[in-house]
Parts: sequence; structure tokens; C-alpha cells
Amino acid sequence: MTTPIKGSCLCGAVRFEITGTPRSLSYCHCTRCRKQAGAFAAVVMVRKADFRLVSGEDQIRRYVPDEPWKHVRSFCGTCGSPLGEPSDDYELFPIAASALDDDPGVRPVLHMNVQSKPAWYEIADGVKQIPGTYGG
Ligand SMILES: [Zn+2]
Ligand SMILES: [Zn+2]
Repeated sequence: MTTPIKGSCLCGAVRFEITGTPRSLSYCHCTRCRKQAGAFAAVVMVRKADFRLVSGEDQIRRYVPDEPWKHVRSFCGTCGSPLGEPSDDYELFPIAASALDDDPGVRPVLHMNVQSKPAWYEIADGVKQIPGTYGG
């Protein structure tokens, strides 16, 4: 039995745990992620069975975008920290790596939607890049 990976929002109201190792860690540079997360979003893909909300369920707000945008974005209603898209509807979902308090044990494998990144941000690592402009 391994120690769970802990995560929390900035104010600490929302706390969660991930058991096991997340499926992957990747970066999304789309305009939607930029607006919510900062320069880009770093997300770990987590199995529903591995995710447990410890506290703050009543603090979580969900932004459901209008078409054609997809991806519900969850965040803390008090401090605004992005949390990703925890959902009962999917077996696998993205969780904001920025909310993790522990090392998830995985390293980035992909930059997504690189054509949407701002000119002022330069990718300076050797991680695989997928062009794309999808803004979901
Ligand atoms: Zn918070
Ligand atoms: Zn994105």
C-alpha cells in the first residue's frame, strides 16, 4: 500500500487524495487553459477509483462552458484554485497538477495545443509537442 498523493486548493478548503500513480502528466497550452490556469495548465490523468475528495465538496464550483467549448472546469469558490475536472461520469479525468501537494511520481510526456500558446511563453524543454489549436 503506497501513501496517497495529497492535493489541496490555495485556501485549504478543498482537499483530495489520489491513490496509485496517475496515468500521465501533460501540459495544455490552449487559450481556455491559459485563462484559467495561468500560462498553461499542467494536468495529471487520474482514475476515478483512485480519486477521493477529503473535504470541501460544498466549496467546489463548476464552470460549464457554452458550445463549442468542452471541458467542465472545477475550482475552489473561495480562492479560485483550478482543480481539474473530477467527475462521477468518467473513469479517467484530469486533475490540476498545480493543486498537488506531493510529487505525483510521473513526469510530463506531452505539450498539447502548442499553436495556441502565447508568444511570450517559450517552451524550453525536450518534451514532445503536439501543435493543435483546440481551445476546450
Ligand atoms: Zn480554496
Ligand atoms: Zn487546454
